[in-house]
Amino acid sequence: MKIGQRRSKQRELILEELKGLTCHPTADELYERVRKRLPNISLGTVYRNLELLAENGIILKLETGGKNRFDGHAEPHPHIRCMQCGKVDDVINEVIAPAINEEEARGYEVKGCSIEYFGFCPECRSNVH
Ligand SMILES: [Zn+2]
Ligand SMILES: [Zn+2]
Repeated sequence: MKIGQRRSKQRELILEELKGLTCHPTADELYERVRKRLPNISLGTVYRNLELLAENGIILKLETGGKNRFDGHAEPHPHIRCMQCGKVDDVINEVIAPAINEEEARGYEVKGCSIEYFGFCPECRSNVH
């Protein structure tokens, strides 16, 4: 098998694993799962493939609250993040991003808008109080 084929096979598996999750895992968390199916895969390979998939718009990279998390659902959608444990969930409601005009954009070419809610998740709420 050619190297290129092996690489894309790994990428497919990473993508498949990510799409099966709704918990927005970090690269490390996803690595732990992928490793069960591909014991020889390295953490670096998982990182590289996730970055590549995100760059190509196939997955979303969530750059909030410390560690990057990844989302197999690439359509922009709102998230809710726990300020205590960093867990991220999807918000089911479609939230319409407020439109901005040219002046407000300050010369930026606007490519999207991400909306994030934050607070404490049910587990952390029951631990805190
Ligand atoms: Zn929490
Ligand atoms: Zn999501």
